[in-house]
Amino acid sequence: MQSQSRSDTYDVCVIGSGAGGGMAAHTLTKAGARVALLEAGQMWDPVKNGTMLKWPYDSPRRGASTRERPFGEFDGCIGGWQIDGEPYTTAPGTKFDWWRARMLGGRTNHWGRISLRFGPYDFNRKSRDGLGDDWPITYDDVKPWYDEVDKLIGIFGSAENLPNEPDGIFHPPPTPRCYEQLATKAARKLGVTVIPSRLSIITKPHNGRAPCHYCGQCNRGCMTASNFSSTNVLIPPAQKTGRLTLITDAMAREVTVGKDGLANGVSYIDKKTGTDKHISARIVVLAASACETARLLLNSKSSQFPNGLANSSGTVGKYLTDTTGTDVSGFIPKMVDMPPHNEDGVGGMHIYMPWWLDNSKLDFPRGYHIETYGGRGVPSAGFMGGIHRYPKGGGYGASLKDDYRRYYGASIGFSGRGEQIPNDDCYCEIDPTVVDQYGIPVLRFNWKWTDHEYNQVKHMQETFRAIIAEMGGQVFSPMPTKDEGYGIANGGSIIHELGGARMGKDPTTSVVNANCQAHDVKNLFIADGAPFVSQADKNPTWTILALSMRTSDYIAQQRKAGAL
Ligand SMILES: Cc1cc2nc3c(=O)[nH]c(=O)nc-3n(C[C@H](O)[C@H](O)[C@H](O)COP(=O)(O)OP(=O)(O)OC[C@H]3O[C@@H](n4cnc5c(N)ncnc54)[C@H](O)[C@@H]3O)c2cc1C
Ligand code: SF4
Repeated sequence: MQSQSRSDTYDVCVIGSGAGGGMAAHTLTKAGARVALLEAGQMWDPVKNGTMLKWPYDSPRRGASTRERPFGEFDGCIGGWQIDGEPYTTAPGTKFDWWRARMLGGRTNHWGRISLRFGPYDFNRKSRDGLGDDWPITYDDVKPWYDEVDKLIGIFGSAENLPNEPDGIFHPPPTPRCYEQLATKAARKLGVTVIPSRLSIITKPHNGRAPCHYCGQCNRGCMTASNFSSTNVLIPPAQKTGRLTLITDAMAREVTVGKDGLANGVSYIDKKTGTDKHISARIVVLAASACETARLLLNSKSSQFPNGLANSSGTVGKYLTDTTGTDVSGFIPKMVDMPPHNEDGVGGMHIYMPWWLDNSKLDFPRGYHIETYGGRGVPSAGFMGGIHRYPKGGGYGASLKDDYRRYYGASIGFSGRGEQIPNDDCYCEIDPTVVDQYGIPVLRFNWKWTDHEYNQVKHMQETFRAIIAEMGGQVFSPMPTKDEGYGIANGGSIIHELGGARMGKDPTTSVVNANCQAHDVKNLFIADGAPFVSQADKNPTWTILALSMRTSDYIAQQRKAGAL
């Protein structure tokens, strides 16, 4: 394959157009930089390509998934657990699932939009319980950028003044639906905190975007741009500056370096033609998602950086974490035969249960939050998970239809999402023998949960079963045993993978500094989840966005000062 170079040298080359890369491209172009944005996936415009308004019966496959749309053929995200020609491997004994998007905007095209700030405790957990490590920054260091992200993107929620759940700048939240009100009552009786959810969906007009009209189809891509995706909120304004060069179907192979040891561009495969190309840039920002960023660094080997770029500490790929997760669902007899009523809402939960307990009284560290699902969403093929799970459900003809009507909306489910502590057995590395279809060495994952996570997930299971019992319901599945890991989801499968190039003050134990700038290469930055020192009991993307904006502001300021 012939290598071609663009003659231009860009101010910045950003790799990846999801949450982190979209925000970097937006902030940097607005600050006057000429940015080349490389995206491995195809072009995508939610307004034109979204399927928000289709009926379930429009599906020729009756809603069944496809390989590149594992969450259903109308889902707004192209990608999946497996991508043809782009394998990854797992070490013996490891169960790890890696979800990758391949499209403009990455996973933000169908993410859940649960948009939570990390709290003050989440940045200094080691000081509080001795486990893991502290971040080199505090909540107060990030707060101004959380505020800017709220203002730019828009988010609904409510001011609650809780100690580790910082409030933001919120639009009014939607009213909880019937099943959410019942769950609230039961959970509060058990001492669980319940507040309105915090989702990056606008409920008032915002920066020229229309408010949500409650069609409940957020995962299909919002054609009115009422929820957040990089594709409908960040990329278009960046393009309007005239300073963004967007290159899709561009699979970055490695970051190249000059004799001075600084990054001087990125080599990539033009997937449309199969040719190798190179783009020159004065600054490189990696935002290909946490694990892919670690892969790019490890594959960017040279005589100056024989162990991979920015890897003098040997910690690239290390300190990888995911959120812990497990689910319980059940049937609630008092919701049977409900009179028809309007449960329209956003494509996500209207209530949220943040961590509410004191770990000193528990057999595990750190916490989890609870997400709730159920109710009367637009029914699709296979909805309710099978009528046979309900008492006397089944049969055929009129009685079957009648059962569906009676039981429709009479189930509820709870998902726990908790904090894993980084451990030495959870990391990714380059597989010594396997390459992808472009000849790029692939990642091999290593994973082991510890008792911290197993005990936490056991507590989730017990809590969800207690809430369902309090609602007068019966669960659909027996309590998983210890041998079944209490129902813990595989590493990676909650799709909150973080770490792999963590930030820190000490260059011998971390990859980037507090500004997400590589210790070893001053014009190399990371703007995705790789620099995270730890998880939290919160979903990570609002923090990825805030840190990406903060890093980009730092780059703009350094450029202005002539330091980069
Ligand atoms: C179903 C689902 C629900 C979720 N719900 C939530 C939620 O409610 N709240 C929350 O906080 N988070 C949620 N997440 C996680 C959230 O989507 C991610 O945290 C976020 O998108 C990460 O942003 P990113 O920029 O790091 O990666 P991505 O959004 O994945 O973007 C990375 C981009 O880089 C591109 N890329 C990768 N490799 C290369 C390469 N070599 N060259 C060029 N381009 C490359 C990819 O194609 C992709 O477009 C969810 C994820 C999924 C899948
Ligand atoms: S529920 Fe609201 S934000 Fe979601 S797709 Fe529909 S209109 Fe858009």
